[in-house]
Amino acid sequence: MHEYSLACEIFETVIETAHDNKASAVNSITLEIGMLTHANPEQLLFCLEVLSRDSIAEGAKVNVNFISPYGECDCGYRGDVGVGDGINCEDQPSLYEYAVMTCPSCGKPLQLVGGDELIVQTIDIEI
Ligand SMILES: [Zn+2]
Repeated sequence: MHEYSLACEIFETVIETAHDNKASAVNSITLEIGMLTHANPEQLLFCLEVLSRDSIAEGAKVNVNFISPYGECDCGYRGDVGVGDGINCEDQPSLYEYAVMTCPSCGKPLQLVGGDELIVQTIDIEI
């Protein structure tokens, strides 16, 4: 139930922010989810929906932006890993971990950095 605990964290953040701003309802929430969190977006959205029932966030629209990890090399190269071309990584985020990525400037394997974020980017509320 990885998604459930993530959804709980998101939900708490949303409710806290809504209360701090004296909101009467939450219209929409925008999330940034790193591809390496292994969260299944559908399950995550479902858990959020269940959690927000009977709260001021009930019925809020949830937008999800995915964040890709980037590659870093000993030689100082840093850039996008670019696995996404032709592959739907939203369905198969684990591809990022198994794909062999090499540094375009020196050819050594790249280290993956980032992609495990889970951020509540914006919350649109009704005052
Ligand atoms: Zn390199």
